[in-house]
Amino acid sequence: MTARIYFDNAATSPTDPRVLHAMQPYLGQFWGNPSSLYAEGRQARAAVEQARAQVAALLGAEPGEIVFTSGGTEADNLALEGVLLAAEPAGSHLITSAIEHPAILACCQQLQRWGVEVTRLPVDGEGLVDPADLERALRPATRLVSVMAANNVIGTIQPIADLARIARRHGALFHTDAVQAAGKIAFDVRTQPIDLLSLSGHKLHGPKGVGALFVRKGIELRPLLPGGGQEQGRRSGTENVAGIVGLGCAAELAAAERSAEAARLVQIRDHLLEGITARIARAYLIGSRWRRLPGHLCLGFDGLEGEAIKLLLELDEQGIAVSSGSACSAIHAGQPSHVLEAMGLDPLQARGSLRITLGRFNTIEEADRLLEVLPRAVSSLRPIRSLSHVA
Ligand code: PLP
Repeated sequence: MTARIYFDNAATSPTDPRVLHAMQPYLGQFWGNPSSLYAEGRQARAAVEQARAQVAALLGAEPGEIVFTSGGTEADNLALEGVLLAAEPAGSHLITSAIEHPAILACCQQLQRWGVEVTRLPVDGEGLVDPADLERALRPATRLVSVMAANNVIGTIQPIADLARIARRHGALFHTDAVQAAGKIAFDVRTQPIDLLSLSGHKLHGPKGVGALFVRKGIELRPLLPGGGQEQGRRSGTENVAGIVGLGCAAELAAAERSAEAARLVQIRDHLLEGITARIARAYLIGSRWRRLPGHLCLGFDGLEGEAIKLLLELDEQGIAVSSGSACSAIHAGQPSHVLEAMGLDPLQARGSLRITLGRFNTIEEADRLLEVLPRAVSSLRPIRSLSHVA
């Protein structure tokens, strides 16, 4: 039996064995509470603080500017609610984009119920926000702008530094959801006027259930979780020490290996893209050709948009895991993607893309296997004759 091939690293990424190794002692041997004053506690505290420095280094931040959370979703919610609820929310204004992850979009809906006005910036056909649109949308009441660094469905990388500069010029704070981008593209908050940034352990070959929010020094934040006052009062709850150690290790590895790894992934990604478009006439790339994450491909298949789930299941049968670009989870499988709709794709196309996302453990040989299997899988599907025939 051949080994399975995992091409869904944007959903979650395999834990690096080096990360696992770093975490292991904190799952057993070192079980102290970092808030305790005696030796066991001090040992755990030292590990948490080392991880904080490792995450900070990935971003060019100060360790004191890192707040550990339970993942990307909590970091996003803490950024938005933390800033908007630090003062009276009613009448304040928040700007985001139409293609954010549900962690941001659902939080915006919640804030709207508390009286915050929300503007959702449109994107173009490649999924890019136009900085001129941000410039026009800013108002004196705008407290926060939140635009993701790279999109999970299409891999498009936003002009974050430009957007952040514009927000700052208008006196608004700037948050970016960098859950897909951290460790894959470079960030330096010393030179980029980013005020808050979310990241998540399991997207960078670290553990699940742990993430971090960078909060620039001096920014007032209302905690989502009041309690024992951990994380400088910004996130109460006894720390997930093993998870935090894993995130720290994953961040350090990502920082050290990022540029060589990005070049390697681009090579495999482009090999796949060229191979797929050469072998499958009906295949087309969705998103930006050049402004995309190194290991990210989102593809449509002309006339087969209604069949994306079948294609995914056929590849699964052949031992290859990919994602339907329509949504990040099986819960919403087959529903049109708000990201693809915002880019102007028709509802059928918005339901039927295939997402192939590469990670540290993928090889060119695995890409070749997909190039062998995918054309056969596509030709086994029955094309829908005309898009207009489908409701
Ligand atoms: N933001 C983006 C862009 C994501 O892709 C994800 C996860 O898919 C999240 C936020 C949520 O992160 P987590 O799974 O760590 O809560």
